[in-house]
Amino acid sequence: MHQTPTPRQTQSVLISGGSVAGPALAYWLHRHGFAATIVERAPQLRDGGYAVDFRGEALDVLDRMGLLAEVRALGTRMGDAALVDAEGRQYATLPAALFAGDLEVLKGDLTRLLYEATRENVEYVFGDSIASLHQDADGVLVTFERGAPRRFDLVVGADGLHSRTRALAFGPEEDFVRHLGIYTAIFTLDNYLGLENTGRLYAVPGKAANIFTARGNTEARAAFHFAAGGLEYDRRDPAAHKRIVAERFAGEGWEVPRLLREMDAAEEFFFDANAQVVMDTWSAGRVVLLGDAGYCAGPTSGRGTSQALIGAYLLAGELAARGGDHTAAFAAYERQMRPRAAEHQALGREGAERFFLPAPTQDVLDRLADHARENTPTAPVRLPDRAPVAARP
Ligand SMILES: Cc1cc2nc3c(=O)[nH]c(=O)nc-3n(C[C@H](O)[C@H](O)[C@H](O)COP(=O)(O)OP(=O)(O)OC[C@H]3O[C@@H](n4cnc5c(N)ncnc54)[C@H](O)[C@@H]3O)c2cc1C
Repeated sequence: MHQTPTPRQTQSVLISGGSVAGPALAYWLHRHGFAATIVERAPQLRDGGYAVDFRGEALDVLDRMGLLAEVRALGTRMGDAALVDAEGRQYATLPAALFAGDLEVLKGDLTRLLYEATRENVEYVFGDSIASLHQDADGVLVTFERGAPRRFDLVVGADGLHSRTRALAFGPEEDFVRHLGIYTAIFTLDNYLGLENTGRLYAVPGKAANIFTARGNTEARAAFHFAAGGLEYDRRDPAAHKRIVAERFAGEGWEVPRLLREMDAAEEFFFDANAQVVMDTWSAGRVVLLGDAGYCAGPTSGRGTSQALIGAYLLAGELAARGGDHTAAFAAYERQMRPRAAEHQALGREGAERFFLPAPTQDVLDRLADHARENTPTAPVRLPDRAPVAARP
């Protein structure tokens, strides 16, 4: 069993972002003897959201955190879905293995679980954001949009695709974010079709709409995806996002007119470009990036949540194993995480390319599902041993 050296003295780590990567890292940092603070821009925990799934090594991380059973209990238990034409007639079955992975949960449920697992040992600051970072030999002076300035030994950007930490420490978003040519809108609505643990998907080349059940069939999530180059819009203006989607889907068949009306009324609404983050290095002095902020693979990879968990485990483990020597730890974290991120990004690009092809036949779908099942380990795949598996809360 690997022995974890504790840092020479308690090191303080500020983590920007309290979604998946941030709380998972905070959990491991605390276990290794560091003091973690999370600053999250949202005023409170974000509930609901879309479904995310885990595979392979990510199951190991959940297992080591003692959370695997709880995550399984929250699972969406999604069954196969149906591909439908403009009249709503089913023409193919979409196997669950292709979209729900080994274990799928609502992202908000996962965030809440990680929060509950860390809240007693981690300082959470909601409704604030890093405003500036000034590094010197001994640490980082951080100013915030609302709170008073503070010093930390290290700063981790786990603040997603549009990371503020990345912008401050590495440069503007345009230098690192690569658009995959697809935009996605997702919103919460009633399960008005009365579906049970399933979904319906309507797809034409370059455009797709779908609806899937959520929360034990009491709700549903619907999504619109469409191909487009870089669109100009205000990222903080949901009304503008809804107008863009409505224009793209005007005149489409199936349930699209009803879904557009539902979207218009939806309070829980997400809209963004599908994109990847590509960087030569993930650290700059005492600042390091984790999860989507540093190596977003895009929604079409189906690996974003998994790699956020794996990255958190490896980063905290390396900091602990090197007694807090952040330069050596960041390099070791990057060496281990880079091949994984590269594989996930390749999957993300392949998934995006499929979006532009005509809807696949049942044969092709079945073959893809067989392939996914063969290549998706359903048991935890063990990572390098940085924390005892048996130590459960
Ligand atoms: C539509 C869609 C579908 C997806 N489907 C899947 C899937 O099926 N399977 C899967 O594995 N992954 C999926 N993903 C990807 C997955 O959601 C992400 O990869 C994963 O959530 C990454 O976690 P993260 O913690 O790195 O970043 P995020 O989850 O993006 O979290 C970033 C956090 O930082 C906060 N933040 C942002 N800016 C600041 C700031 N300035 N200061 C403080 N806090 C800030 C945000 O509020 C947020 O809480 C999907 C993504 C999308 C967009």
